[in-house]
Amino acid sequence: MFDGVESWGVGFRGSSTGRPLRGRFGEGSLPTVAAMSTSTSPRTGTLLGVWAHPDDEAFLSAALMAGARRAGERVVVATATRGEQGTSDPVSWPPERLAALREREQSRSLAALGVTDHRWLGHRDGDLPRVRRAVAVDQVAGLIDEVRPDTIVTFGPDGMTGHADHRTVSSWVTEAWRETGRASRLWYATLTPSFHQTWGPLNEEIGLWFEGAHPPVTPEESLAAQVVCDEVLAELKDRSLRAHASQIDGLVAMVGEERFRSWWAVEAFVAAGRNGSPA
Ligand SMILES: [Zn+2]
Repeated sequence: MFDGVESWGVGFRGSSTGRPLRGRFGEGSLPTVAAMSTSTSPRTGTLLGVWAHPDDEAFLSAALMAGARRAGERVVVATATRGEQGTSDPVSWPPERLAALREREQSRSLAALGVTDHRWLGHRDGDLPRVRRAVAVDQVAGLIDEVRPDTIVTFGPDGMTGHADHRTVSSWVTEAWRETGRASRLWYATLTPSFHQTWGPLNEEIGLWFEGAHPPVTPEESLAAQVVCDEVLAELKDRSLRAHASQIDGLVAMVGEERFRSWWAVEAFVAAGRNGSPA
């Protein structure tokens, strides 16, 4: 999700912890989706997530997906690009090589949450505003017709970080949702005032927001859903995020493991149309 931030990702030359992914649960005692409590999970019904790059879904909806799977719901994730530009070292990581790695990371990340149904929309990383809109909207509408989700999650019009690919995906999904008769709930990933209060300095420090970005903020009372990770959900989300090692390792080294874990431990969603955007 930190696409375009040059300081980490594969090619990041800072120190890496180099430690195996092993939290307090340790290998051999991994929490599973089946073991978690559902008390904190909103009801989604069949859930469809549509995102721009591999790892967007993990940052913004891993816990929501884990909860849905635990409740026995079908979860489908579609990713518009393979994230092949997500490196500050394109000589060592030319697009095809990086894309192959990120495909593997994507399936491992989703598998950690019990999600196996994933689709690539097949567009070029960094190029989504130039994709023919009608073609992309048709693609997403086709997916909605096929999956018949009860809930769709994606970026809001703000694109979360302001990335043009994110904003474009939001507009495709919103248009496709309208075209297919708004038969499902459409939720946009958002942030709460307390996220900005707690993490504002860190977000600034690492350059989370793109130039000219308007990061979303939704008062808690206006949210459609919020997932506050308990210990098990936090562990599942951590595994799902850290499966995207090419994007995450440098970031974790910079931020620190504990801080990294708490940073995205609350997932918030606002219904389309409730955030000032047309719906
Ligand atoms: Zn992204």
